[in-house]
Amino acid sequence: MKFELTILGCNSAIPAFNRFPTAQILQVDRQLYLIDCGEGTQVRLSQFNIRKNKINQIFISHLHGDHIFGLIGLLTSFSLGGREKPLDIFSPKGLQEMIDVQIKHSGSHLSYPLNFHEVDTTVSSLVFEDNLVEVHNIPLIHRVPTSGYLFREKPSALNIRSEKIKELNISVEQIIEIKKGADLKLSDGSIVPNTDLVLPPWQQRGFAFCSDTLYNETVIPIINKVDLLYHETTFLHEKLEQAKYTKHTTALQAGMIAKAAQVGQLITGHYSSRYDDVTPLVEEAQSVFPNTIAGMDGERYEVIQKRNPEL
Ligand SMILES: [Zn+2]
Repeated sequence: MKFELTILGCNSAIPAFNRFPTAQILQVDRQLYLIDCGEGTQVRLSQFNIRKNKINQIFISHLHGDHIFGLIGLLTSFSLGGREKPLDIFSPKGLQEMIDVQIKHSGSHLSYPLNFHEVDTTVSSLVFEDNLVEVHNIPLIHRVPTSGYLFREKPSALNIRSEKIKELNISVEQIIEIKKGADLKLSDGSIVPNTDLVLPPWQQRGFAFCSDTLYNETVIPIINKVDLLYHETTFLHEKLEQAKYTKHTTALQAGMIAKAAQVGQLITGHYSSRYDDVTPLVEEAQSVFPNTIAGMDGERYEVIQKRNPEL
């Protein structure tokens, strides 16, 4: 089952150096979750051959333009394509008002139900779940109310060891129960424990999105040991004062967060337009957390599915 992040836009503030403003797609199995929707998101979806009609949920971090100015275009394009299925948007307060005004004065009409869900940016809680993932918000510190998002896979059904079915003559009804965790009772009354019958369960993969934010250690326990962390790296640490003033994080600080949270891999992004080449930002984060890779438009980052050897 696929668990893959695609960066649609990795720049901050404006499009620059072939980098678009913030937008990302997380694919889990065949579901697509859109995270932020900066200007040009539709263009990127098309360029990267991502089928936008598979998006049913959009998670918005905050209402700065470089994270939402692609939204009205995407929403109205869905209508032009005849979309009928509902779309859910999760965001801090105020987004519905912004979208309603644009729809009203542009004479637009949506052909599908659009449901807004207000996210409390002061506490972390479950904001969404389906049969694949749970999504918790991550309170961040920025110039307007802001929330990151943590996606975690739900446990998948247990896989029975095929050789055991023949060996123990297990019926279809028993297989269903074993996949739910039941032990097997044999005809002589003896019990075969479930762990002898199934393969180790799949690890539950996770992805955390942290942008935009001042250096903020309160996220560390929330994102602890997540496989993949995207954390903004707007400035080099030599611009620390500017980072503090604009409530952003330096690359060095992002590396510190990744290290303290013991994440699997750090992806950089939300680069200031002062940087044409982002290599120094990536290297600065790597100086603290070596397993850092550059976020870049069009890049895909897959978390491979592994069985949990401890269980
Ligand atoms: Zn911002």
